[in-house]
Amino acid sequence: MRAVQYRTIGSGPEVVDVPTPEPGPGEVRLRVTAAGLCHSDWFVMDLPEEQYAYGLPLTLGHEGAGVVDALGDGVSGVAVGDAVAVYGPWGCGLCHACARGAENYCPRAAGLGIAPPGLGAPGALAEYLIVDDVRHLVPLGDLDPVASVSLTDAGLTPYHAIVSSLDALPAGSTAVVIGAGGLGHVGIQVLRAITGARVVALDISDEKLDLAREVGAHEVLRSDESAVEAIRSMTGGVGAQAVFDFVGAPPTLEISRRTVALDGVVQIVGIGGGVLPTGFFSTPFGASVRAPYWGTRTEFMEVLDLARTGAVHVEVERYGMDQAVEAYRRLHAGEVRGRAVVVP
Ligand code: NAD
Ligand code: ZN
Ligand code: ZN
Repeated sequence: MRAVQYRTIGSGPEVVDVPTPEPGPGEVRLRVTAAGLCHSDWFVMDLPEEQYAYGLPLTLGHEGAGVVDALGDGVSGVAVGDAVAVYGPWGCGLCHACARGAENYCPRAAGLGIAPPGLGAPGALAEYLIVDDVRHLVPLGDLDPVASVSLTDAGLTPYHAIVSSLDALPAGSTAVVIGAGGLGHVGIQVLRAITGARVVALDISDEKLDLAREVGAHEVLRSDESAVEAIRSMTGGVGAQAVFDFVGAPPTLEISRRTVALDGVVQIVGIGGGVLPTGFFSTPFGASVRAPYWGTRTEFMEVLDLARTGAVHVEVERYGMDQAVEAYRRLHAGEVRGRAVVVP
């Protein structure tokens, strides 16, 4: 089968031929119908050799959807032909966190060698994908796989961050979204759908600011020093009750620190290498800072439900497998509008 792999440190993704995998006991093989590209893939591929811990070759793709194609021994609960999406942050399935669906915070996964597809295990950018357990499959029903596949991460990750900030976001509050890319443009829609907040989006690209407005941002601002003053002034000096930083670089974390309100929350979602110093006089009194990772299984089901009502959608650029390398280049260059999705 064909797959998109990261094979050599520093070399970028390649389209290659690899053996079609067979499902082992308890595993499910999907024929992939769609796979999304995430900026985290570039984080992984940009790591120097001494920090790289995902194995080589690595089949990329941690956003996956497919049709059940073959069942390993002992698998029940799904049937060949079922259309499913893959819950990606695989945990052990047995601990307290996993029992409540928060496999994204499983404390045992790393020690057991359990890694998400595309981030250690072979990923979804291939014609076939092995999923380790049926509990990581969620039925898609009528949802289109190409339009929906990125809800597995670009939808779920902002949703998780926003749900854990709901107390801070009643009607009349202000939420700031920094970075209106794959995650950010869905985050804006989730904020509009489940909170009463006024949504202010920041980006460095005019095209992304146009997209932010199209998907529901009330205000859009260039992401620079002037944004801090603008947000302070539009909130009567109070600041934003919640800031979702989908970049996480030093300049955006500084904007986050300076725009969050007293008792507000900063959610650092982007892995842009910045650090936000938290202390009595470095952040407003009562403010909390979180670095959320992905989301829970039940939250993923809720995101799919939001998509079914039409409240949330993903802007998709569609590519064939042959165009995957070009799609990754566009993602790296900041040229993708919404999410790039490969259809094998
Ligand atoms: P993306 O490339 O689609 O979007 C990034 C957006 O940020 C673009 O619109 C870009 O123009 C904008 N941007 C860049 N620099 C900026 C700045 N200084 N100020 C404002 N906007 C700026 O990326 P994505 O796939 O949406 O991922 C966003 C981030 O989230 C990445 O760092 C990714 O690795 C990370 N991520 C984290 C998790 C998690 O679980 N915490 C999950 C998925 C992705
Ligand atoms: Zn991701
Ligand atoms: Zn666990």
